[in-house]
Amino acid sequence: MIHESLPPDVEPAPQLTPRTEPEHSFWSRRRKFPERIEGAFQREMDRIRERRIRRTGLAAVLLYGAFALTDRVMLPDAYLQAWAIRFLLVVPMLLLATFHVYRIPRPLWREAAMTAVLLACGLSIPWIASLSSHPNAGHYQTGVMLVVLFGNIVLALRFRSALVTSILMTAMYAYALEQVASMTPEVRLNNWLFCFAAVCISLIASFRMDQDQRRAYLARMREQERNDELSHAVELLARLSAEDALTAVANRREFERRLAVEWGRARREGQPLSVVMVDVDCFKNYNDHYGHQAGDACLQQIAARLRGVPQRSSDLVARYGGEEFIVLLPGTDDEDAAAIAERMRQAIVDLQIPHAASRVAPGVTASFGVAAMHPDEGAQPQALIAAADAALYRAKEKGRNCVVLQQPGAELTLAAGVVH
Ligand code: GH3
Ligand code: MG
Ligand code: MG
Repeated sequence: MIHESLPPDVEPAPQLTPRTEPEHSFWSRRRKFPERIEGAFQREMDRIRERRIRRTGLAAVLLYGAFALTDRVMLPDAYLQAWAIRFLLVVPMLLLATFHVYRIPRPLWREAAMTAVLLACGLSIPWIASLSSHPNAGHYQTGVMLVVLFGNIVLALRFRSALVTSILMTAMYAYALEQVASMTPEVRLNNWLFCFAAVCISLIASFRMDQDQRRAYLARMREQERNDELSHAVELLARLSAEDALTAVANRREFERRLAVEWGRARREGQPLSVVMVDVDCFKNYNDHYGHQAGDACLQQIAARLRGVPQRSSDLVARYGGEEFIVLLPGTDDEDAAAIAERMRQAIVDLQIPHAASRVAPGVTASFGVAAMHPDEGAQPQALIAAADAALYRAKEKGRNCVVLQQPGAELTLAAGVVH
């Protein structure tokens, strides 16, 4: 596990959410997810249904309306009433449901509204048939089956609602058949069985669709989790590979990467680039006097202070090694860099960490070497680092706890901030 060896401030990867848990119980024993997952699943299914409802609803209107043609030819004695029921009652209701059902906030009510519309749609068929005394009216009842098929397969109601509508519609169909006096009991039985079988087939399809959707939902969730974990791990690795474990400032590798980037940018844009090298004074003595652990804590405090001084987001404080830090200041000229270094020096003095073994001051101090450059074609970043290093060497020579600025390749030009 990556997490175990991380610094304490690094957040662990998110736990595998329990969304993937139910797989075994779900597939072996139950047909539903546990409640918390069921809710999320149904919300997603609702979103899918909502996206489709307009097309589905318009298809229903067209199919339902098309039967106006059979009203005309099959029920010559009642087609006007049939059209009135179809177009003044059922079609407006279907359109209303199509365009407004998703305004109903609660899924349960929404589902109930859709079920009610389907039932009303189904009921309109025996009603229309009952208005006619023509023998053809007996054949009309089969239309109920289509409504059930539409609800179960096209509208893809939740299985629970599909089951309820199917039972109610089949019962309604059986009752409607009873009312057709011209039908012999054998034909009635045959018709009813026909309807019953069609409803069962559509219920099986509805159930299978539900199972497939659940399986697909689980797979999507699992993939989502894997992606989240992976991006978390990638983020963590990127951070670890760029950060110093003790002080949490950038490490040397990150400094070198950023130096190369900023060097190129400064060259393209004709901007200056400055580097400040920082070395804690008499740190060996500090360790010898206070112990290595106190030394570590001291380095952490110094790093935090150094990081607090530069202002721009492109500025970078890094641990260069041991008790040495390095600061990259893009777009900063020598004088501004020396001023920043001086503020850093003062910030470390202000920490007032006692250092009884220091040859410089009663508290911990550091020396600063500053170098600035306008990178040009022939120059190398190493020249800038070497200049800052040389300046740091001079700062040590001058008695430590001071800032020295040096132009690369030039003699020492400025010494600042010698406190003692
Ligand atoms: P100067 O003023 O010339 O820089 O003297 P100095 O004692 O600071 O320099 P020197 O190079 O002799 O010693 C550096 C010390 O820094 C030696 C080492 O014990 C200590 N050091 C380096 N890295 C770490 C660290 O990660 N933790 C601790 N506690 N000490 C470290
Ligand atoms: Mg050193
Ligand atoms: Mg030192």
